[in-house]
Amino acid sequence: MILVLLGPPGAGKGTQAKGLEDRHALVQLSTGDMLRAAVAAGTDLGRKAGDIMDRGELVPDELVIGLIAERMDADGGPKGFILDGFPRTIGQAEALDRLLGERNKTVDRVIVIAVDDDALVARIIGRFTCAGCGEGYHDVFKKPKVADVCDRCGGSEFTRRPDDTEEVVRARLKAYYAQTEPLIGYYEQQGKVASVDGMADIETVEKEIDEALKGV
Ligand code: ADP
Ligand code: ADP
Ligand code: ZN
Repeated sequence: MILVLLGPPGAGKGTQAKGLEDRHALVQLSTGDMLRAAVAAGTDLGRKAGDIMDRGELVPDELVIGLIAERMDADGGPKGFILDGFPRTIGQAEALDRLLGERNKTVDRVIVIAVDDDALVARIIGRFTCAGCGEGYHDVFKKPKVADVCDRCGGSEFTRRPDDTEEVVRARLKAYYAQTEPLIGYYEQQGKVASVDGMADIETVEKEIDEALKGV
């Protein structure tokens, strides 16, 4: 199964992707995570992408398409993918259709996670991540069960993203509405969209997504 998670920054794509990996034996492909790894490793790609990400703009299509193409073959196998944060432009969506077509696959379902702007900003500002396993947390909405200890791996080191500030979030939201939201229409034309209410709590959203995947 090829599943696309579509929604603005902070909607819960990463959170839901991790849950789907555990429940459905799918592999999460997050272009944001791949780009941050490239920045941390100081690769050519990381040097190109870093400043753009700090400003909250989208990195050029060809760079992320290349990343996805590589990973699709490396992690491919019999399992399906959860695409988290890709595609983000019509050009990326068209490239994805081509890449999948060459492999006799297709996007099976596009889950749109809808959340109000004010809630998005609150979610982004309070977000932090386990440095050990990548599990996502929130200062208010999803604290570790034991303070400063990761529920998933027991680690005690956490990170916050440099672009998770109010100012940069506003720029990221602008990029979302201008460049990414039009993808909803693109996939509606293909009859693939299921929308979920992302304002609900994490468990309720999980249930709604599982419901939308029945019969896929
Ligand atoms: P995205 O990957 O779409 O940017 P995340 O999954 O990282 O979003 O979620 C953003 C922040 O909001 C995280 O701190 C996460 O713990 C929190 N969060 C995710 N889903 C919900 C929800 N349904 N209700 C409240 N907070 C949530
Ligand atoms: P979010 O929490 O906003 O969903 P991501 O981790 O998906 O954030 O992305 C962080 C940044 O990485 C984006 O603001 C953008 O600069 C870059 N990025 C990630 N995925 C893409 C993509 N598919 N196309 C272009 N830029 C991307
Ligand atoms: Zn952890």
